[in-house]
Amino acid sequence: MPAHAFVRHPADARLLEGRTAVVSGATSGIGQAVAWELAAHGAALAAGFRSDPDTARAMAEAVRAAGGRAEPVELDVSDEASVAAGFARAADALGPVDLVVCNAGVESERPLVEMSVDDWRAVVDVDLTGAFLCSREGARAMAASGRRGAIVHVTSVHDRMPWAGFSHYCAAKGGQRLFAESIAKELAPRGIRVACVAPGAIATPINEEMLADPAAREDVERQIPMGRIGDPAEVARAVAWLASDAASYITGATLLVDGGMTLFPPDAG
Ligand code: BGC
Repeated sequence: MPAHAFVRHPADARLLEGRTAVVSGATSGIGQAVAWELAAHGAALAAGFRSDPDTARAMAEAVRAAGGRAEPVELDVSDEASVAAGFARAADALGPVDLVVCNAGVESERPLVEMSVDDWRAVVDVDLTGAFLCSREGARAMAASGRRGAIVHVTSVHDRMPWAGFSHYCAAKGGQRLFAESIAKELAPRGIRVACVAPGAIATPINEEMLADPAAREDVERQIPMGRIGDPAEVARAVAWLASDAASYITGATLLVDGGMTLFPPDAG
């Protein structure tokens, strides 16, 4: 969604009024849709970016122009110091953080025999270590302020579905899910809920190549019982709901948003 199109939901439909959210990877794809949706629900938004400050700034301005609160925040999730500084900046600008969306993620195709340690680390450092660092920082902030809140992880159908050529990605996503389940247990007594949203194939820049190639797209769509690629907004709505008090008794759960992709293979005959 372009910044000029941003509007907040009507006041009586807002699920996140009074909350302060940090979203990592907020400048594109699913993270951007999540950022818009949280802000539309009234959350004060810290729009985390690594390499695209202009987009983060434009998003924050659009939210402010619509009457909301937002701040662009530099956040390289693979870097401990950057995460600490980003969360401090968010709290300074917007108040105590009580909602974290661990969204930033990267992927690259690498057959095992060709995978260098650098290839492995490039994915695991962002997708898994990044989720750890942001969760830790968010939990520390909530412990310090005494606020109860939520941490939502954007995993993937590949938190359970093996994917040849993407073993580092699957290792990171499977790890992220079990990490999230473990901290859900740990943080429950403090009133902090943790949940995962596991998207399937979604129309985002990460899938650009597949989306532009009709044969590749058809191949993916054949694996999806609903027969279509998902929209980032469809993932974002699940994140907003899980983050809100509407999901007050949910922790440690993973909500698949995949058009049924994990129900593959199709019935025989
Ligand atoms: C990946 C996409 C892929 C989808 C389904 C996601 O985790 O980011 O590239 O299309 O899983 O395989």
